[in-house]
Amino acid sequence: MDKNQDYTLEVIDINNDGAGVGKYNNFTVFIPNCVNGDVVDAKIIKVKKSYAIGKLINIVTPSPLRTNELCVQASKCGGCQLQHINYDAQLEFKQKRVRDCMERIAKIKNIPVLPTIGMQNPSNYRNKAQYPIKNVDGVVQIGFFAKKSHRIVESNECIIQDARNAKIVEVIRLFLLEQNISIYDEMSHKGLVRHLLIKSSFHLNQIMVCLVINGKKLPKSDLLVKQLCEIDGVCSIVINNNTNKGNVVLGDKVCVLYGKDFIEDKISELVFKISPLSFFQVNPTQTEILYNKVLEFANLAGDEIILDLYCGIGTISLFLAKAAKKVYGVEVVSMAIDNAIENAQINGIDNAEFILGKAEDAVPDIKADVVVVDPPRKGCDESVLKSIVQLSPNKIIYVSCDPATLARDVAFLDKNGYNVDIVQPIDMFPHTTHVETVVLLSRN
Ligand code: SAH
Repeated sequence: MDKNQDYTLEVIDINNDGAGVGKYNNFTVFIPNCVNGDVVDAKIIKVKKSYAIGKLINIVTPSPLRTNELCVQASKCGGCQLQHINYDAQLEFKQKRVRDCMERIAKIKNIPVLPTIGMQNPSNYRNKAQYPIKNVDGVVQIGFFAKKSHRIVESNECIIQDARNAKIVEVIRLFLLEQNISIYDEMSHKGLVRHLLIKSSFHLNQIMVCLVINGKKLPKSDLLVKQLCEIDGVCSIVINNNTNKGNVVLGDKVCVLYGKDFIEDKISELVFKISPLSFFQVNPTQTEILYNKVLEFANLAGDEIILDLYCGIGTISLFLAKAAKKVYGVEVVSMAIDNAIENAQINGIDNAEFILGKAEDAVPDIKADVVVVDPPRKGCDESVLKSIVQLSPNKIIYVSCDPATLARDVAFLDKNGYNVDIVQPIDMFPHTTHVETVVLLSRN
């Protein structure tokens, strides 16, 4: 294939990044914003040994799986990769992705991967938004990074974020412009304002606005507080100091400009305190479904001892505590453990104990009946899996946000005495390629 030439291609699949997979004389071409069943004209922009990358120029015949994108920026923004695919097909793509990982990586045949549990209304589902801020030729841009780039795509009406965010973004933009506040530049590591983080509570009408700055103080902050307070729900305005170079958004210091340094949200009947730095699932509607699945898989009689590894602010631990004898949570971030202890108190739960430490070192020596793990994307260290196997629980419930590391870890457990009973994908991140999965394993 030749670079800069246009080709007509049939799209036969979607890859893990959500790009269409086209074939030209058996040679593979990846074309973003396409879906299987499309016939498209694509301009070849890169040719490698075993594949090429194409840019969609024209849809000759649209796939029946295609749908109209809801956001005008969808094809440019790095946030959504699947908006052009109808929602049922998105859910099937996620189920297939999990099944492929189980078969190819875990090499377990006939694995029961259930259909992905989707949302009734898959929009405005996120409770957390992180907007990079840039100054481009005197214009303050607040948006999301474009695909594979640090260029900003402005999306005032982002369809996956909380609809209330648009107003906050506008207030911040005007404030920065009118007060002539300097904006951070990644290359020179100069300038003040780097990111805007908004966390919102879907059940308690509480919003936290956090500006991440490369310095200590935000000039004219009293004016900003006054303007933000006019927006319904804003109850916490904080500054996060991040003077480090690099892509990590938040630094570890938080200072309050107005209100509290946390917001609260509810999942089912439980109330959780969420601080700017602690992890909280981003899709509250689906989180409730996820945690109920964990509860269902645990199938508790009331006398069980449960170990919840990677417990964050204690969400799953407290969700299970009401149906168990005792729950132990282990988590590495100390602010999250503080939140977890406080969350147990707020909810009147006295049979949960939280341990600060790495799962690698801090698995307590207890007789656990059920072990729940919910690690970050890289999955569990093998030493953690070995410790779990040594505890010999009847059940292991694995919650994962990455099907590839999940499959690797499930393969280890499968070889060490555990049977994979159910694999349940849940759509926590509609319109993106991300997929959450809960797996129930039981001792052979
Ligand atoms: N189960 C929780 C949190 C899951 S996110 C919830 O549903 O809200 C994963 C958590 O693992 C994060 O809170 C992160 O801080 C924590 N973590 C990351 N590495 C860890 C490790 N090595 N040991 C223990 N916890 C870790």
